[in-house]
Amino acid sequence: MSSLVSLLDRAAGGGRLTFDEGVRLYKEADIHDLGAAAHARRMQLYPSCAVTYVIDTTINYTNVCNVHCTFCAFFRPEHHKEGYTMSHDTVLERVKYAADRGATQIMIQGGVNPELKLEWFETLFARVRREYPRVDIHSLSVSEIVGLSRVEEIPTREVLVRLKAAGMKSLPGAGAEILVERVRKRISARKVRPEEWLGVMRDAQELGMPTTATMMFGSIETAEERIEHMHVLRELQDETGGFTAFIPWYYVPFLTPLRGKEATGLEYLRVLAVSRLYLDNFAHLQASWLTPGLKLGQLALFYGCDDMGGTILEERVVHDAGSTNEATRADLENAIRKAGFVPVIRDTYWNLRDDVALATAG
Ligand code: SF4
Repeated sequence: MSSLVSLLDRAAGGGRLTFDEGVRLYKEADIHDLGAAAHARRMQLYPSCAVTYVIDTTINYTNVCNVHCTFCAFFRPEHHKEGYTMSHDTVLERVKYAADRGATQIMIQGGVNPELKLEWFETLFARVRREYPRVDIHSLSVSEIVGLSRVEEIPTREVLVRLKAAGMKSLPGAGAEILVERVRKRISARKVRPEEWLGVMRDAQELGMPTTATMMFGSIETAEERIEHMHVLRELQDETGGFTAFIPWYYVPFLTPLRGKEATGLEYLRVLAVSRLYLDNFAHLQASWLTPGLKLGQLALFYGCDDMGGTILEERVVHDAGSTNEATRADLENAIRKAGFVPVIRDTYWNLRDDVALATAG
């Protein structure tokens, strides 16, 4: 059996880890050694000190949802008095707010609301496209795509084709949680099965829509299941190359039915470092600062991350679960600079956007 040192050396040089080696590194490697290997790999891929981020917003257009995940404090069941669905005009006002502040990306995401037909989204996206052509629609989630296919009784691929024609450019990786059936059954039994999630992603990628991949960890899964999640993503990425980035974030338990304990900072950094080493075919690793906060976000830049995510001008799902972190664009840039890196604005597709920086400086 290889020593931990030789495993770390191989992974730091871009060598592929087996599933068992990934588990072993996750469980046994010293956190500082893991960080050093992940950072070495990141610097090998991106030798400059640039750290990218995107100016974006998340618009949670409805909290009505028929999936009822136990880790979610945001949703309301159908006909609940606190349920809401924004009008198209309200969504457009939010898009304007973000576009006026330099946003190049909007994430329109919400619950799986069976009252909303596909046409509702087609009309909305076509309006956003027409009125804000410089803003990319990086929106919905696999759960919402599957929900629409059920409402319309058409295949998910057809839903994607129609949304793409209406202006949706890419599909965020939300809703994956942990792509292991045992975990899904325990925390989100009504959600799509792992193979369905991967199938919708494959379809989107084949249709030319880039996607991201996320991992919500810290609920009930084991270390082996975290690596299994990375493993199935790595396999699909080998096949399609359609994922732009991996975004692990941890579950915020405080106001959810599932409850439990929040992951520690060290656990977060360990997940990041192992992600950078195990997912050798993912170009970008994102520090999702929304749950751990910007201070840990700075440390994440030394554990394999090359991207600081987005400004997230407005977001409800994670906040409703008890997270209180927020950051302006200046906060994000200061955090990156004070960690010794250079902030660089990108768009959804990792094109660098000096034009946005100049137009919205300050
Ligand atoms: S996480 Fe998403 S799919 Fe699950 S209950 Fe919340 S809004 Fe619905």
